[in-house]
Amino acid sequence: MTNFFDLTLKELEDRIEILGIKPYRARQIFKWVYQSDLFDFSLMTNLPKGLRVTLRNMFHFGFPEIRETKTSGDGSVKFLLAASDGRFIESVLMPEDDRSTLCVSTQIGCKMSCAFCVTSKIGFVRDLAAGEIVGQVMAARRAAGGVRITNVVLMGMGEPLDNIDNVLAAIDILEEPLGLKISHRRLTVSTVGLLDRLRLIDPRRAQLAISLNAATDAVRTRLMPINRVYPIRDVLGYVRGLGDTGRTRVTFEYVLLQGINDSLEDAKQLAELLTGVKCKINLIPYNASPYAEFKTPHPGSVKDFQSYLVNRRFTAIVRDSRAADIGGGCGQLGMKYLE
Ligand code: SAH
Repeated sequence: MTNFFDLTLKELEDRIEILGIKPYRARQIFKWVYQSDLFDFSLMTNLPKGLRVTLRNMFHFGFPEIRETKTSGDGSVKFLLAASDGRFIESVLMPEDDRSTLCVSTQIGCKMSCAFCVTSKIGFVRDLAAGEIVGQVMAARRAAGGVRITNVVLMGMGEPLDNIDNVLAAIDILEEPLGLKISHRRLTVSTVGLLDRLRLIDPRRAQLAISLNAATDAVRTRLMPINRVYPIRDVLGYVRGLGDTGRTRVTFEYVLLQGINDSLEDAKQLAELLTGVKCKINLIPYNASPYAEFKTPHPGSVKDFQSYLVNRRFTAIVRDSRAADIGGGCGQLGMKYLE
């Protein structure tokens, strides 16, 4: 039986059309499920009774089950979810005054082997299905008592572009006006920069964040082995080539690691590298874990690094390390697999 949450609206239309059912029925079903949180076909009162039975035999509503919730001192919440095969998935909800952002995982484990990230230490376990990506949003929304999730970042466990088909389907469902209605401006795909796949993310469908993390190939390769395949100049070449496609600027993420890439000299190299590239820079002070040997930078060097960039007219913000106290910060997801 198919998991309903795996299906885009178009796929649902196609599935029922084969049975001779009009596509508008799919739109009615989507509204029930995603906008009224109704997970029982027999209660969808505007559908003919026979169709309700047919649907019940075709689809089930499988979303990951919340096993554990941890609340951070900063108000964010980390969810430990169990997939249908019992494997664990983590997502982090970050409420703010005017919005609520959910950071979702796209894979269990990861193949990218970034030196500073806990998820990479698990190795690769498996891709998440589209329904498991969408399911994290459904589960969090329910658990948070109907809090409207306004922003979704594909920035949890895994490399989204390494699971491109399921990620594209999930984006479709999340953005569907009859689905979860997340605006494309509020949906971000974060990637190490798999350039051959990056082209598949339509600028009108999602914001892009690229994990740069270093200003030279030597340092980036040490931190992110994928740099051997897609070195810095190719990543920047791609971003330059985007020009003014109407999308908001690409964000470069830069994890600050004490003594590795957090000096003023590093800031200078970064500024030179990014001169003329339309972008924003997100500085992320390293979140420590027992599974990697790096050190968190001193607050003073974070400030100096940021000031150097800002003085040169870059938009550079320091991302607050939210949820780090509960193992829910960037690069901390997946510890459950290592305990
Ligand atoms: N694979 C994707 C998404 C997951 S990582 C990517 O690389 O973008 C999300 C972000 O967390 C990346 O920018 C990554 O560089 C950052 N990150 C990973 N480990 C971290 C850590 N220990 N401390 C701070 N940021 C980290």
